[in-house]
Amino acid sequence: MRWAERFRLRSLLTLCYGVLLGVALAALGTLVHFQVRSYLWNAGQRELTLALRGAREVEVKGSPADWSARLERRLHSPGRLVRAGLTTDGGFEVFLWSDERGHAWQVVSLPLVQSGSRVGTLWLGRHWGWNAELLHELTWQLVSGSALVLALVTVLGLGLARGLAGPLERLAGAAARLAGGDWTARTGLPRGRNEVLQVAANFDLMAERVEAAFAAQTRFVADASHELRSPLTAMGGMVDLLRAEAPDRERILDTLERETERMNRLVSDLLLLSRGQTSGVLVPVIVEDVLREEAAAVASVWPDREVTVSGSALALADRDWLGRVLRNLLENALKYAPGQVELSCGSVGGLVQVSVVDHGPGIPAAQQERVFDRFFRADVSRARLTGGAGLGLSIVRTLTESMGGEVRLTETPGGGVTARLQLPLARLESP
Ligand code: ADP
Repeated sequence: MRWAERFRLRSLLTLCYGVLLGVALAALGTLVHFQVRSYLWNAGQRELTLALRGAREVEVKGSPADWSARLERRLHSPGRLVRAGLTTDGGFEVFLWSDERGHAWQVVSLPLVQSGSRVGTLWLGRHWGWNAELLHELTWQLVSGSALVLALVTVLGLGLARGLAGPLERLAGAAARLAGGDWTARTGLPRGRNEVLQVAANFDLMAERVEAAFAAQTRFVADASHELRSPLTAMGGMVDLLRAEAPDRERILDTLERETERMNRLVSDLLLLSRGQTSGVLVPVIVEDVLREEAAAVASVWPDREVTVSGSALALADRDWLGRVLRNLLENALKYAPGQVELSCGSVGGLVQVSVVDHGPGIPAAQQERVFDRFFRADVSRARLTGGAGLGLSIVRTLTESMGGEVRLTETPGGGVTARLQLPLARLESP
């Protein structure tokens, strides 16, 4: 319906039901008019037939002047027309006829016979004028009544169409603003069971997510640039020192190497975070093996720290990712807490549970969720000294959720952090 595209929805709705109602009223009016006319016609014909006692022809005697006068006398009554003439064509008929003064008559004509041969015609009529007036009045009432109803319904319909199309117009406006780059665009419509309101509620939700995603992206780029700038500044300083031929070249080169490594780590963390959700191979993994490997790997960096491993479980996970997750949690426990760190695993209620427990200062309850945000550090000065960019726990969460798991931080009884991972349990098919 190309033409329909040119109208606003509210005009289109009003136009459509206006036209439909108009057609329906016209059809109903026409039907009523013809039904009433047919009823009146049949009633008139029945009356005339009754007056003639059902005869289809009339036997006459004597001369035409005699039978004509006799018939007129016999059949005459007020509002009736009786004529007898010598016309001999035409049989029994009922028709509408106008006399010389313009009066309409419903007329029955029937043959007059004398001794078996046709001698004339009798016309018996009934005044049709009243019926014509009645039909005229009825038509007028129907037309004016229909026009009134149509006008009333159009006005009410316009209000109704506004009520129906209004939310859609608000939605269209908000969508146009969002498409134009205004991320704060919302329909502002209330919630409801009505489908349009449901679409609007989902639109608002979607717009909120788009706004949050853009804000997060902007923040992420700003934070990442900020984090990358500090090693670059340090490296620039080192290069200047080398060029000025400073005496302790070895120490400068060591720092340069450390900063390069830090930047390398940062860039690969950023890459991992941006790719996380997509690539991973979930296979059955023996969790205690991974725990032992990670404990052994950190032993060279923290040789004087005790890391214990206990329990056993078979999880459905990406082996590299699980290693990375446990390494980040373990390194945090070693970086931010003194003393022993306990790694354990087991299956609880159809899930694999892995815990990394330390006995350090812990994380205030209010920050236990925020530490998962990218670039968030609970204690900036301390974390800067330990070299973290605040990405470790976001990587933990991204990778764990990509494997269909969950991660939460709680307080270790007596103080410290307990990081608890839940992963899907691997079920080995029996051969
Ligand atoms: P970072 O690279 O700074 O270690 P993370 O995302 O791993 O980044 O951790 C975010 C912040 O959470 C850290 O800066 C630290 O303040 C805090 N945190 C993480 N683990 C622990 C822990 N085991 N004990 C105390 N604080 C912790």
